[in-house]
Amino acid sequence: MRNQTRQRHRSVTIRIVMIYALFGLAWIYGSDTVLGWLVQNPAVMVKIAVIKGSLFILCTATLLYVLIDRFVRKLAAAERGRIETLKSYEALFNATNEAIFVHDAQSGNILDINERMLEMYGYRRDEALTTDLGQLSEGTPPYSQAEAAENVRKALFEGPQVFEWHSRKKTGELFWSEVSLKKDSTHNDNKIIAVVRDISDRKQSEEERDKLEAQLQQAQKMESVGRLAGGVAHDFNNMLSVIIGHTELALMKTGASQLISGHLEEIHNAAERSADLTRQLLAFARKQAVAPKVLRLNETVAGMLKMLQRLIGEDISLTWRPSTKLWPVKLDPSQIDQILANLCVNAKDAINNTGRITIETGNKTIDAGYCASNPEAAPGEYVWLAISDDGCGMDKDTRDHIFEPFFTTKNVGEGTGLGLATVYGIIKQNNGFINVYSEPDQGTTFTIYLPRYTGTSGETETAAVAIPAQHGNETILLVEDETVILNMATLMLENLGYSVLAAGGPAEALRLAEKHSGRFQLLITDVIMPDMNGRDLARNVLAAHPEVKCLYMSGYTANAIAHHGVLDEGLHFIQKPFTLPDMAMKIREILNRPDQTAPSPSQPGQTA
Ligand code: ADP
Ligand code: MG
Repeated sequence: MRNQTRQRHRSVTIRIVMIYALFGLAWIYGSDTVLGWLVQNPAVMVKIAVIKGSLFILCTATLLYVLIDRFVRKLAAAERGRIETLKSYEALFNATNEAIFVHDAQSGNILDINERMLEMYGYRRDEALTTDLGQLSEGTPPYSQAEAAENVRKALFEGPQVFEWHSRKKTGELFWSEVSLKKDSTHNDNKIIAVVRDISDRKQSEEERDKLEAQLQQAQKMESVGRLAGGVAHDFNNMLSVIIGHTELALMKTGASQLISGHLEEIHNAAERSADLTRQLLAFARKQAVAPKVLRLNETVAGMLKMLQRLIGEDISLTWRPSTKLWPVKLDPSQIDQILANLCVNAKDAINNTGRITIETGNKTIDAGYCASNPEAAPGEYVWLAISDDGCGMDKDTRDHIFEPFFTTKNVGEGTGLGLATVYGIIKQNNGFINVYSEPDQGTTFTIYLPRYTGTSGETETAAVAIPAQHGNETILLVEDETVILNMATLMLENLGYSVLAAGGPAEALRLAEKHSGRFQLLITDVIMPDMNGRDLARNVLAAHPEVKCLYMSGYTANAIAHHGVLDEGLHFIQKPFTLPDMAMKIREILNRPDQTAPSPSQPGQTA
């Protein structure tokens, strides 16, 4: 570039000199020749020659002036253009959204920076020019001076480098950036050009997305584990029904004094304990049959305090801090019992000897902002219940797994790992969510959020129905597709004094119902059966025999009789496995009641 300019300048100079020389030669020779023709007198000739010489100088001076002036003008215009171009490049340099650094390749020193760099890092220009890569970085590996220098070296010897970097502002504030390094060798000295883009926003949304993804995965895992647990529990329930039922029948037949009754008692106890486990699994799988009621949570909790204190022992103090004006909630009171008992037992286990457990309540409105960071939450009004302890707390690894069924850190025999899984299932079933705050040695707080009940019903928990007489002599149509359960339940009912019409499926049940028309008072049916579900069977039977009452039995509630596990009001339900006294009580409760609750096809409002 510079050589070209020099060449051009030289050729212009040569042109000027040539024009001058040609003009001069032409003048001298031309004027002398013409003069030789016209003038012979030497004296006159001398005078004219003097005038001619003066004229020559005047003309050539004018000519030189014109030529040089034109040249200088051109030079000035070119210089103006050059400055303009430089200015617009400088403006571009400063107008970018990226910070630009020019580094000396050898020392790494900053030679130049643009305006955006000052803005991004918060330095004045003179300060920025004396900073080094270490000061502009987070400062600890892998974002320290050493790694920065290594990147510069790579850009110099291996080619352009692009990487993410944790940068530091003058204030010490850190931010995420994307750095692009490239060697610049247009001049003899090597430089490194660094272009730095602020990617804090992108990084933040990436982090949020990752977090949400992890939470979603966790939720999906819980969902599939729940399905598995629910399925297993359902089958176990059926078998336990058989074990418990037959044991009870056998116990009734053997006198209490006989040796064998001791063994039977043991079997019965073990089966009951197993049934407890399956009940917890069903709760986790949200397949627990429930009868929700509008509750004043403070009253429900207050009613449990004595029992809870007994559960946790005398060395741990229990503090109760109810908040006033608590909104009502609607859920099965026995589920509150399950939640509190599980959380208090866990708190007790976390406390070494002496400590404190605090139970608190309150109202809270959850907004969309909160839900953005907690996908299990939904906006709305909630009543919260918090259980805190000053026990051993948990690390993150433990926290990540506590709601999974069978996850326990306790010794074999000390923990089943079903406590929190149960709590989780119950809360999900009631459209709530749960938060846990815990650090090792810092104690733990579980906060449960239950949706505020906004219905108008003033009803609150009512006292349990008085226990009715157990035996009876009515006739019962019993429908169950699993033969072992059918046989066992038939025996049970007969032992209670009832006459039983046993049907192994809906078709047989309809046949028996027709044959014994008017001679049976109660239909007891399984819910899930091939061909026709229990709900539809009941509709059919009740259409022809509206006076008959109906009791459903199932390991879990199916959509046929329940919506999201919540029984339609007015339906009678017994959960498998049931004990003889359970069944006896349930039957009397239904048969002794004034006629009002049996579902019939003329009640279209109920969920199918
Ligand atoms: P289990 O009590 O049978 O172990 P849970 O589901 O109730 O099963 O609890 C799972 C695990 O969660 C426990 O083993 C324990 O490690 C941890 N955990 C639960 N509650 C607390 C608490 N309040 N403090 C410390 N750790 C707890
Ligand atoms: Mg537990």
